[in-house]
Amino acid sequence: MTAEVPFLPFSRPTIDEDTIAAVGAVLRSGWVTTGPQNQAFEALLSDYFGGRPVRTFNSGTCTMEIALRIAGIGPGDEVITTPISWVATSNVIIEVGATPVFADIDPVTRNIDLDKVEAAITPATRAIIPVYLSGLPVDMDRLYAIADKYKLRVIEDAAQAIGSMWKGKRIGAFGDFASFSFQANKNITTGEGGCLVLNNAEEARLAEKYRLQGVTRSGLDGIDVDVLGGKYNMSDIMAAIGLGQMKNLENVNAHRRQLAEHYFQCFGPEFEAQTGAQLPLQAFETSNWHLFQIILPDRGPGTRAEFMARMQKEHNIGTGYHYAPIHLFTMYRERGFKEGMFPVAERIGRLTVTLPMFYAMTKADVERAVEAVKAVLAQ
Ligand SMILES: *Cc1c(COP(=O)(O)O)cnc(C)c1O
Repeated sequence: MTAEVPFLPFSRPTIDEDTIAAVGAVLRSGWVTTGPQNQAFEALLSDYFGGRPVRTFNSGTCTMEIALRIAGIGPGDEVITTPISWVATSNVIIEVGATPVFADIDPVTRNIDLDKVEAAITPATRAIIPVYLSGLPVDMDRLYAIADKYKLRVIEDAAQAIGSMWKGKRIGAFGDFASFSFQANKNITTGEGGCLVLNNAEEARLAEKYRLQGVTRSGLDGIDVDVLGGKYNMSDIMAAIGLGQMKNLENVNAHRRQLAEHYFQCFGPEFEAQTGAQLPLQAFETSNWHLFQIILPDRGPGTRAEFMARMQKEHNIGTGYHYAPIHLFTMYRERGFKEGMFPVAERIGRLTVTLPMFYAMTKADVERAVEAVKAVLAQ
């Protein structure tokens, strides 16, 4: 079977010919680093996020580190986050010298459980980093009620959530810091890259400093450095890709939504009861359907590895897992985390699998993926 059908990956970027031409124009222009393309990209993103200040960066990861620095968070401070995310989410907390505190996830949304966030707050807590896994936001009203009540900053890890909505408002268009990633698998990409939505001009000025070695310039040759910044700027080559991708974002998200609807249709109402697997929440009002993830029925150690291997070998379909529980990585175990601390995250981290979902995918691809899942789970 595998020889006859083309490989179906779980994600693949689509970059149109206009965008490729725009990159060519930048390469020919004599200015390839941060410049006019970035200015235009930041202006477009600011527009997209309701006029809030936006700055671009060379990754989503560094936007969160910089947001923590802007908020003045460092040694002695605790930051609450989820154990089910890309490890970047908690690595940045350690990077600024603060202490990551995990709160377990909700088994249905697979996002951080806000009751457990509230229970984890101590006098040292300074911020929350919620993650909108697969593009599904948390209960934003509740999140900001908690932040207000305990005077906490929020750095939204909205890496996966561009175009996601909450009660008719775009994620990033309200709230505190919002961080987005343009890494290759995300709904839009700049190859690598990210952006940070900020609250005011002062924060934007600080973001620019942290983005480039802490430098402030004045006049023709005035330069000073008063904070430790890094090298996090986005090139104009990347920004040109971003400008092209933004033109298609609404189509991309609408198409992903149709694919998600088709997934639910193809799995059918009996799938969960028949197999013991768990489908995602049908969050059509909020999610941008960055990922379509199912939780496998538990068949003991190796459940997911065997499932992934069979999808690949017998059906030529790529799958992924987002994510392994962060607190069980060696570096985190060395900080005192261990098995049993976050049981929901540990179960989901072991059994979650990501099915194909990307713009160039067709409904026939969805049908093929669902047939394959059903066939693999039937034996
Ligand atoms: C992609 C991603 C990141 C990191 O973004 P980069 O651009 O790869 O640095 C962080 N958190 C989540 C949830 C992500 O999906």
